[in-house]
Amino acid sequence: MIRWLLPLYRIGILIAVAWILREHAIRVRFEGFRPITVTEIREVLPAAAALVPDTSERAGADVLDTAGTKIGYVLQTAPASDSIIGYRGWTNTLVVFDGALRVVGVRIRLSQDTEDHVTDVKADSYFMKTWNGKSWNTVAGETPQDAGIEGVSGATMTSLAMAEGIQRRLLEANAQIAKPPPQWRFAERDAGLIAFLAAAIWLAFRGTHGRKWVRIAFQCIAIGYVGFWNGDLLAQSLFVGWAQNGIPYRLAPGLVLMLATALIIPWTTGKPLYCQHVCPHGHAQELLSRVLPARWRTHLPKGIAAGLRWLPPLTLGCVLIVAILALPADLAGMEPFDAYLLKRAGWATIAIAAAGLVASLFVPMAYCHYGCPTGALLNFIRKRGTADRFGRREIAALLLVALAAFLSWKSGAMRLWIESPASDWIL
Ligand code: SF4
Repeated sequence: MIRWLLPLYRIGILIAVAWILREHAIRVRFEGFRPITVTEIREVLPAAAALVPDTSERAGADVLDTAGTKIGYVLQTAPASDSIIGYRGWTNTLVVFDGALRVVGVRIRLSQDTEDHVTDVKADSYFMKTWNGKSWNTVAGETPQDAGIEGVSGATMTSLAMAEGIQRRLLEANAQIAKPPPQWRFAERDAGLIAFLAAAIWLAFRGTHGRKWVRIAFQCIAIGYVGFWNGDLLAQSLFVGWAQNGIPYRLAPGLVLMLATALIIPWTTGKPLYCQHVCPHGHAQELLSRVLPARWRTHLPKGIAAGLRWLPPLTLGCVLIVAILALPADLAGMEPFDAYLLKRAGWATIAIAAAGLVASLFVPMAYCHYGCPTGALLNFIRKRGTADRFGRREIAALLLVALAAFLSWKSGAMRLWIESPASDWIL
């Protein structure tokens, strides 16, 4: 029984994390890190009972009543309005529509402008009703000048910036909606990657029949072609991006197939296809581990090795923190894989790649064993046959799901804390 449940549990963990990342990204697209509450909407639509973020390019949310019927639509103008400066800063406005997408009210959510100016704008009920009754496309199609909006006396710049922000937000959404869906693209790099994958699968199941040179030749092709030439590698930045924005199967079919095989083959057969046969950084470490005489090679003391094995899951936790809180850190810089893209590799990724390769001269596959979050993730879902047990790895994975859920739930408060001046922090 446990032999069936554990693989399901593991794939369930992956799906749960991907789902949390996706739902969180949709919610942040709609409301940023300051949740839009039903109470705010009730000022305009008193029957509002729930908000359901919209996955379309409008990036707002449907407003539902207690019976679950859609009675309106709501969006905020940030971040489209962030670069429109009134007197001294931006104004983020809530725009509420009825079910037919006609404006029924606008409210200022947040503004960087002078407090007096913002108060004047809010108090001018004639100005605040400027958009009422107008359709989405009418508002999107008229600049404040075209619409004859003159602004609020004494707060002209703030009110005009707000009006411009509303128009820009709707116009940008229309531009996204009008974009045609991406066409299927099957480029040379996809064909090359699929051919390489087919060879890797062949080797994984058939082996090299003791011919070392076949393995070495294959490793050189993996490093040269997949690593330096093609550059399509699995990495945390890719997992997070795809979970948040969807899988680009039309634009990168080769890479999507690579991810699918890297997950499905170990999950169903127990063979670590990607780590053992595809990853150029794994191959580079394996080749380097044979360079120095055997007496130079060492194994870490048990205690240190056991401690270092926590590094990959801890890195996965950091990846979740950066991704969910949208911290200004480059996920690609947390792994060595971008170092193979010589033209765009950053110093962090180069340093991690170089450190891992040097370490592998002395400690075989050091980075794979003690540093790689992507390897840990792929290894986590690997089928282990009769020896399979629910152990520390499974508990750690569950803790990561809990961490993702908690971060998503409290992301608003955490971002507020991070953005507040250090003097306000209660330590
Ligand atoms: S553990 Fe990481 S570096 Fe090693 S082979 Fe797997 S993905 Fe590549």
